[in-house]
Amino acid sequence: MIPPIASNFVAGEEPATAIDHVRTINDDGINGILNLLGEHYDDPAEAAADADEYVQLVTDLNDAGLDCCISVKPSQIGLDHGDDVFADHLERIVEAGTERDVFVWIDMEDHTTTDVTLDAFERHALETDGNVGVCVQANLERTIDDLERLADLPGKVRLVKGAYNEPASIAHQSKEAVDEAYRDCIAYAFEHFEDGVAVGSHDPAMIDYAQECHAEYGTPYELQLLMGVRERAQRELAADCEVYQYVPYGDRWFSYFYRRVRERKENALFALRAVLRP
Ligand code: FAD
Repeated sequence: MIPPIASNFVAGEEPATAIDHVRTINDDGINGILNLLGEHYDDPAEAAADADEYVQLVTDLNDAGLDCCISVKPSQIGLDHGDDVFADHLERIVEAGTERDVFVWIDMEDHTTTDVTLDAFERHALETDGNVGVCVQANLERTIDDLERLADLPGKVRLVKGAYNEPASIAHQSKEAVDEAYRDCIAYAFEHFEDGVAVGSHDPAMIDYAQECHAEYGTPYELQLLMGVRERAQRELAADCEVYQYVPYGDRWFSYFYRRVRERKENALFALRAVLRP
């Protein structure tokens, strides 16, 4: 069972509880992005099992009639066992998502996976006429060039600052440099992505900047934030624009929760306060 302090960030161990959580946020005008927790398996059978669960999940989401998409990590569905293993599982998930009208995001992992992830996105974006999205990370110096390639494709792109420690030879290191690169990516995307931009950040300054760019270019946009982070702001923002909450679930919750706490000690304090509040 997930202890209360972690359940602020993780919507249960079973898909049914995660779907219940999505129903609740949908009532507040917030869309869901469900992510089954898991990555880097030693055993390819675990990757296959997670891909099976995603295929079932899109069926359940379609039956439930919720405003919800899914987000998948490449190493969760077999990238460590070969590009072809990843490609086969992703294809099954994207086919199921397209048949059942459920949008499929591909999360981005460390820089060694960027090319294979963008190639997979490009293929499925063209084949499904845009029923897939991919995440790109502003901390990588290459990303501003990647955006040029992505601007011509159907599908969606989620801009984030980047969660992986990358070498100085290829990535911005300081917070200031990453923030500046993130602003550049936001500005580029609003100027060139006619179909829309997804901004994955909790940073009020970046959210304000995205809103300024929207006012300047008129490009549609959505904000994406994690479950358990700035939830009141999520509800307020949802009154004016499209907001998605990334909702992780599954029995591999401990390392995800630990990462949130390590990232920001306040996360643990917020969670603790929520638990203790009468
Ligand atoms: P930060 O730079 O961490 O913080 C900036 C400011 O935001 C803070 O000063 C504060 O004002 C506010 N803030 C941040 N956290 C909190 C908090 N807990 N409570 C209150 N205020 C806070 N990374 C990847 O590498 N690949 C992915 O596929 C990926 N997908 C993501 C999907 C979503 C929906 C989101 C939100 C993030 C994703 N990330 C991903 C993580 C991302 O790269 C960043 O590591 C993460 O979002 C932290 O950066 P930030 O922009 O939110 O703000």
